[in-house]
Amino acid sequence: MLDRARALLRSVFGFDSFRPGQDAIIGAILDGQDVLAIMPTGAGKSLCYQLPALIGNGLTVVVSPLIALMRDQVAQLTNYGVNAAALNSSNDPAESRRIFDSLRDGDLRLLYLAPERLARPDTVELLRNAGATRLAIDEAHCVSQWGHDFRPEYLALGELRRELGGIQTVAFTATADAATRSDIAQRLFDAEPRLFIGGFDRPNLLLSMAPKNSARKQLLEFLAARKGQSGVVYCASRNGCEDLAETFNAAGHRALVYHAGLDKAVREANQDAFLREDGITMVATIAFGMGIDKPDVRFVAHADLPKSIEAYYQEIGRAGRDGLPAETLTLYGLGDVRLRALQIEESQASDEQKRIERAKLNTLLALCEAPRCRRQTLLAYFGEQSEPCGNCDLCIHGVEVYDGTIDAQKFLSA
Ligand code: ADP
Ligand code: MG
Ligand code: ZN
Repeated sequence: MLDRARALLRSVFGFDSFRPGQDAIIGAILDGQDVLAIMPTGAGKSLCYQLPALIGNGLTVVVSPLIALMRDQVAQLTNYGVNAAALNSSNDPAESRRIFDSLRDGDLRLLYLAPERLARPDTVELLRNAGATRLAIDEAHCVSQWGHDFRPEYLALGELRRELGGIQTVAFTATADAATRSDIAQRLFDAEPRLFIGGFDRPNLLLSMAPKNSARKQLLEFLAARKGQSGVVYCASRNGCEDLAETFNAAGHRALVYHAGLDKAVREANQDAFLREDGITMVATIAFGMGIDKPDVRFVAHADLPKSIEAYYQEIGRAGRDGLPAETLTLYGLGDVRLRALQIEESQASDEQKRIERAKLNTLLALCEAPRCRRQTLLAYFGEQSEPCGNCDLCIHGVEVYDGTIDAQKFLSA
């Protein structure tokens, strides 16, 4: 069956060979096994459930957390000549009717479902009638409170799976430490799934972190050396995005903004420009980037501390998907840490959840203050042992001591 898969890889997707891990995962899926695959960002997880959907009869139901992400994938598949559709709140009635017709005729190969549809009582019926044979769960860390992007709707997946008679389930994520991993397995599967853990390392990314003294000045210096390249600067607040973009533009860079406070049309226009053109710096909140597939992003910078190591890894992972060198710079300061700690305390989360969030913040601070190779520290967090990388600030320049985070640690443990 892998021969058939290889043929489709070429004829439908236009790729010459599988990326590391893809063939083994696709083999297991075609073999009918339940799979939990952990592969780095950009490794090509989508293909692992898209391709098997084209082999044999039956419908693959894909659960994916973001409507924009589903839309992109459906557009791409349609473009490849694959019959795929997405059911979500943005469908108009005509669109929904077309999808239901296709489902009834049984000629749909992939049906993307938004998480909020999972708990709807009519969903089981719909999927049963449509002859669903496989459940593919993208961004599976969303099912775990240990993950960085917990979605309560994902909790309905285990039940849905049971109601569909223990239908084959294959789950994918880029970021899962041991705790998240066993949590996912327990919530989604009845028995242990076949586990695939791809290497987490993205050796082409230069990792660096620096204490924040003047984000503006530090980022301008960083950008000056990268004029004409495409990159993303993440910023915690909408105002922060606007201010930084203005600063960058005034300094002769081409910067656009992306955050949830912008009109949808503006947001989409900015995103399209970033995808199509070269040399744009996107100054964005974390609203930007999930599922964005631009291979030649040459840098990712953080004006503010990310929310967690998982978020950090996923955000820097948007650089260098083409495998060529790309650089990252993450700024961190006491203010970021204080703000984050405060957000955790003031959130509506349960005490248990707050404890998890605090632990995550501390782990991230430990990465900021890593005494040796940053990549080694990062990979160790994901359970991977490695040698000093030679491609991080600490390997290149050695350790600089900064008292701010020591204060921050005191602040947190107080
Ligand atoms: P992930 O979900 O793991 O972050 P994607 O599924 O978005 O990654 O894939 C990242 C990019 O890699 C996409 O542009 C995809 O088309 C491309 N890709 C996937 N598989 C292959 C392959 N076998 N050969 C070449 N490119 C691939
Ligand atoms: Mg993906
Ligand atoms: Zn290193």
